[in-house]
Amino acid sequence: MRRDTIEKVGPWAVSPNLLDYGRACAEFSWERARALLDGLPGGRGLNLAHEAVDRHARGPRRDQLALRFLSKDGGRRDFTYGELAEATSRFANVLRSLGVGKGDRVFALLGRVPELYVAALGTLKNGSVFCPLFSAFGPEPIRARLEMGAGKVLVTTEGLYRKKVASVRAALPSLEHVVLAGDAAPSDIPGAHALAPLLARSDPRFEIPATAPEDLALLHFTSGTTGRPKGAKHVHEAVVAHHVTGRLALDLHDGDVFWCTADPGWVTGTSYGIVSPLTCGVTSIVDEAEFDAERWYRILQDERVTVWYTAPTAIRMLMKAGVELARPYDLSRVRFVASVGEPLNPEGVVWGVEALGRPIHDNWWQTETGGIMIANFAALPVRPGSMGRPLPGVTAAIVGRGADGAVSEIREPGVEGELALRPGWPSMFRGYLGDEARYAACFADGWYLTGDLARRDADGYFWFVGRKDDVIKSAGHLIGPFEVESALLEHPAVAEAAAIGKPDPVALEYVKAFVALKPRYAASEELRRELLGFARTRLGKAVAPKEIDFLPALPRTRSGKIMRRLLKAREMGLPEGDVSTLEGSS
Ligand code: ATP
Ligand code: MG
Repeated sequence: MRRDTIEKVGPWAVSPNLLDYGRACAEFSWERARALLDGLPGGRGLNLAHEAVDRHARGPRRDQLALRFLSKDGGRRDFTYGELAEATSRFANVLRSLGVGKGDRVFALLGRVPELYVAALGTLKNGSVFCPLFSAFGPEPIRARLEMGAGKVLVTTEGLYRKKVASVRAALPSLEHVVLAGDAAPSDIPGAHALAPLLARSDPRFEIPATAPEDLALLHFTSGTTGRPKGAKHVHEAVVAHHVTGRLALDLHDGDVFWCTADPGWVTGTSYGIVSPLTCGVTSIVDEAEFDAERWYRILQDERVTVWYTAPTAIRMLMKAGVELARPYDLSRVRFVASVGEPLNPEGVVWGVEALGRPIHDNWWQTETGGIMIANFAALPVRPGSMGRPLPGVTAAIVGRGADGAVSEIREPGVEGELALRPGWPSMFRGYLGDEARYAACFADGWYLTGDLARRDADGYFWFVGRKDDVIKSAGHLIGPFEVESALLEHPAVAEAAAIGKPDPVALEYVKAFVALKPRYAASEELRRELLGFARTRLGKAVAPKEIDFLPALPRTRSGKIMRRLLKAREMGLPEGDVSTLEGSS
């Protein structure tokens, strides 16, 4: 980091591991954080893609590796910052030549392939709005999102188009262009263009138009864990948070090799799979393939990954495969491991120490927050089961509603309440697509209400209790499913667990748990009784499940979150609701 930058923004900028947390928080301001970024030349504003790519391509990082793609078949494709700047400029020129401009919506329906990353950054350069879709979505979720977001361009492949888009195309009048990765644009696809020749013909130089920090940049749909997915709007200014949180919460430094395992169809895969590491000038690994325990260990070893960002569902799958599987690999370069998306069970933190020689640092955020808000920092001891402490610049609190309905902070440590944030950080969403009322309902008395329940301990660490919708009310207790699930996970037979509340005439609700077993264990009445007893000893009678069912696997969203509402609906024989993001559906 340059000396003048340090002087401008204060020592927090160079103590990314936050040894001195209190001082970092006291000295931090988002205004000063902005000075870490360049802004567009000529004072023409702030553009996400400029900060991620072009400013490095113009400086000493030009020939440094920016992105390395690992394909399913074992191939590799590398982009230096200079090459990425050119490829994304070509893409921006392609959009311009198609008459796609500022504010127009460009959707991508692609796997983790170079075209997706080039399209995302090229779209942002052009001032258009980028919206990624999970390539595993079926026709209906794709139609619904393209319609809600008024997609003008869809970047995809011919195969994905025919399988998933052709049948709903007639219902998408705003979709003018279908840009197909590859060399061919079949004439029976209306508005089809072949991407490869278009890129080849385009100018590798592109002057990014003036971009206001408040210009719309990204649309991200939430995971749909608690209901119908919402489309969160994000602006170019978000890049300030992407950058700062990459440094502070993910400990990204010069020379790091970073691997974020999230799919760009989910906000983590964009904020941290694309933008943040590039703004920090590190090398990112992108793996096209689906989860495979041995492949993942091999990637960590062979690509010399130093910072790894993954999710509890992946960690539980690695745990399920057994820690012995990690032994033959040299994972000594892995310096920092972080997790997001769901509460990380304490067992997962312990597994990190056993398998990787490092604890896993949980952090918390949402599609709506656009970036990490609460984290276990690198230099501070991890508190297993805790989400960590707020980032400098983030004010988090536990709030409750008083008798008059007003929302206010609960300062007393250890009390459960709704997790709330003071609005004002740069990556905060600026609205839900087509749902102003729902957006407005997220704010009250100067707080943004997250919909999650948590508590804060006396040292300022936050502990996740559950989503407001998932919390179980039993005999006057509020029971967070996470607590029940974490206790079950301590049993050697349990690979995954989910807890829900079932109606009870006396207690209002009682806890029922669903359990998936590790490979060597078989479901039996005896094991069920053992688990019920095990949970009772750990949790006490009031909190422990009264029923346990075995399932081969738990229903999950495509971003890896357990869908408790679906387990509950099935249990009660109710309609399943929106299952567009359910893994395995299409
Ligand atoms: P929807 O809003 O559509 O129901 P979703 O909330 O799962 O879906 P995301 O924005 O992808 O969609 O997920 C954010 C949520 O994930 C958080 O509000 C929280 O409930 C959960 N979460 C994320 N990280 C953590 C964490 N470290 N610990 C506990 N919960 C987490
Ligand atoms: Mg949510």
